[in-house]
Amino acid sequence: MNANCDKCGRSFAVVPQEKTHRKGIIETYFACPFCRRHYSASVTNHRVRKLIDELKTLRLAGPPTSAKALELRERKATRLKTEIDAKMAELKRRYCGDE
Ligand SMILES: [Zn+2]
Repeated sequence: MNANCDKCGRSFAVVPQEKTHRKGIIETYFACPFCRRHYSASVTNHRVRKLIDELKTLRLAGPPTSAKALELRERKATRLKTEIDAKMAELKRRYCGDE
């Protein structure tokens, strides 16, 4: 996968790397090899990883037995995803300045 750097405008191959912050926070990020601009791909803590696991389990579950079950599952998946996104955005703001 290639990305264009926001800062220097050059194109580079994305090589995701992991960094562990305090309190069990794991950041997946990549950096521009030319100007070292830092990009956070995802930031998770224990709680967010648990939510991601829950979402995965939900998606791996067998086919729903009824329309109602499908609807409930979809609703739960949406709720989980919203919570994951919000928590990740918050962690990113707090721990991983994009510079
Ligand atoms: Zn750059």
